[in-house]
Order: sequence, then structure tokens, then C-alpha cells
Amino acid sequence: MSASHTPPAAAAPDEDAPTLLVKIFGKDRPGITAGLFDTLATFSVDVIDIEQVVTRGRIVLCALVTAPARRDATEGDLRATVHTWAESLRLQAEIISGRGDNRPRGLGRSHVTVLGNPLTAESTAAIAARITGTGGNIDRISRLAKYPVTAVEFAVSGAETEPLRTALATEAAALGVDVAVVASGLHRRAQRLVVMDVDSTLIQDEVIELFAAHADCEDKVAEVTAAAMRGELDFEQSLHARVRLLAGLDASVIDKVRSEVRLTPGARTLIRTLKRLGYQVGVVSGGFTQVTDDLQERLGLDFASANTLEIVDGKLTGRVVGEVVDRAGKARLLRRFAEQAGVPLSQTVAIGDGANDLDMLNAAGLGVAFNAKPVVREAAHTAVNVPFLDTVLYLLGITRDEVEAADTHVG
Ligand SMILES: [Mg+2]
Repeated sequence: MSASHTPPAAAAPDEDAPTLLVKIFGKDRPGITAGLFDTLATFSVDVIDIEQVVTRGRIVLCALVTAPARRDATEGDLRATVHTWAESLRLQAEIISGRGDNRPRGLGRSHVTVLGNPLTAESTAAIAARITGTGGNIDRISRLAKYPVTAVEFAVSGAETEPLRTALATEAAALGVDVAVVASGLHRRAQRLVVMDVDSTLIQDEVIELFAAHADCEDKVAEVTAAAMRGELDFEQSLHARVRLLAGLDASVIDKVRSEVRLTPGARTLIRTLKRLGYQVGVVSGGFTQVTDDLQERLGLDFASANTLEIVDGKLTGRVVGEVVDRAGKARLLRRFAEQAGVPLSQTVAIGDGANDLDMLNAAGLGVAFNAKPVVREAAHTAVNVPFLDTVLYLLGITRDEVEAADTHVG
């Protein structure tokens, strides 16, 4: 005999071996799972797969097991014993004979998250039909959240992520629901940096407009904004033109503006949950550090970058100092934050609403257009059109239960 011990080779699954699918359905109560497997244990069968779900108090428990191999305990005996046990608990049992394991899932795997407020049967039917139409198979469906919107997740195989995303984006726009398609795999859980725009994303306001209200130049600022939107000015020109209108404003206005800023609903939940999960979170803004620094401190953000209003002798000069954060600048900052966080770009998530955010949204592993203008919505990987920032968590596969459990366990 050899002195060395060779570990026993794992038994190759025999795809032809007889197997039994045992399905139990009925009113849920403690002990059903233990009871079923106790019953099966008397036949010395092995477990190949288990799926269990409870919906409104009803349990569906499916167990795929090897067929009994002993002569003194036949498949017929097993069927009779399981049925007797199920009847004693007023459960329905179905036992289906077959061969081998589940069919292997097809290549090309994605997670499709659907957000609806409400989620209608019509939308669900249309989404499911589109998935099937692109060659995808729905392997599993589960609910992620019922609050503040209904969020369900489909695990899909057999379709490439990009064509599925394109097909579902068209359907989602027509149905008025939000659909996010993310490639499955380990990297989905390894996303470790989230970078957000500030104005109309993290907060409900446009900071320049808050300043303008104190300088009595709201109309003029709005004119410049409109000209920029018509493409007559680029972002940098429009920034300088608008900041110029603030010249002479007392710097004490900064504190007033900070107190006027309204966070987007769900912003605190999003950031708190991400931080607890070990994500790093940053903001980039075409607005001003005088406001983003305050947000960084209040919300415990890891990174923040914006333009800085120049202040001389306690007054705004109407100029900005330093590097201007514009469309290209935002993407540059995403890369810089990722480098500092030690996270590859493919594992970053960017969230924004404006044309200014497009480069950043496209550079990130997942770009989320948040209540964005149509041009941004169409160009981004995915769009969220409900006004709750914490719904972004569902796109990352985080459930409401997990969010609330984290809130309960941490003071
Ligand atoms: Mg914005």
C-alpha cells in the first residue's frame, strides 16, 4: 500500500441516474422542511437540489433527490410515505420521476431588475416576453423590495447582456417602468465605488439657482442655463457667465444656501447602506465646493470634488478658482477616485441626471441615469425614473430586507 493518501475523487454526477423531484405546497408552518427531509432520510436518498419559497404564508418546497437504491425501500414506498406525511399536515405533495440533475443554465447570464410603482401584470408580461424573445430563459424570479417601489429581479440565462439591455430599454420606456440589466457574476457583488452627481441627483436643487436667489439674479441665471441647453454655450462658458452674476454677494450667503439644500428622498439610506457594505462613496459636481464639502462632512462621503467660488474680503468675486469640473472633468474625477480607492473602473457605479454626467456614466462599470433628461436616459446603461435614490441599491441586487436589517443591527 502506498504511504501517501490520495483524496477520493469526487463522484462524477451521473446524468442518467434516476432522480425524484418532490414538490410540497401548502400553508407554511415551522418544521415542514425538517419533516420532509426526516421522511426522505429513512430512504437514504441524497439531496441534489433544494428550492423553497414562502409567499403570503404559502410554502413551495422543491427537493430533487436521488431515487432510493435499497431493495427493501422502493420508490413506491417513498411515494406512499411522503404522501402520508404531507396529508398529516394538510399539505399537497407531488413526486415526479426523472433522470439526472437540472438542465445546465445557458451561457450569457444577466440579472434583470424591474422597478414599478406599481408593477402591473401587463408590464411583467411584456418584460418576460421580451426576455424570451431575445433567447433568454428566466431561471428564477424574486422580489427585492416593496418599498418605496416594487422591485423584482429576474435571473436570466441564454442571452447576451447587451442585446438584452437594448431590447428591454425599449420595452421599459414604452411601459413606464425602470429596467436594469447587469451581467451576472462575481464582479456584480464586487462593485466597490459609487460616484454621484450632486445637483438634481444627490440633492433636489441646483445650487447655482439657490445662490442666484440671494443675488436677485435668478432670471438672468435661468437665461444663461437655457442658452447652454440650446447649445449656444458650453458648460465652462455657462459656468463662468452664471458665477459672474454672483459677484459682490456676501460670503455669509454660503451658510444660508447650505441650509436650503434638500437631499433627494432615499439619499441618506443609499449612502448609509453602501458604507455599511464597505463601498466607498463620492460626489462630483459642476456646482461648488462651498456646498459639497459640507455634504461630504454631513454624509460621511469618501470623496468630493466641485468648482470653488473665489472669495475675497468676505465677498464672492464672481470667479471660480482652480480646475473647472465639467463633463470631461467628472469622468476624470471618477477615474481618479477609483484609483485612490484601489477599485478598477469596471467595478464602479456612477449616477447622474445631466448631459454633463454622460462621460462619467459611460466610463463607469454601471452608469445610472437618475430622473434624467431623455438624451442622458438613452445613452446610459440603465435609468431610474422614480424619485427615490435608494432604489439604486436594488440595481446592485441589495434587497429592502437587507437594508432594514442593517439599520436594525447598527445603532
Ligand atoms: Mg445634475
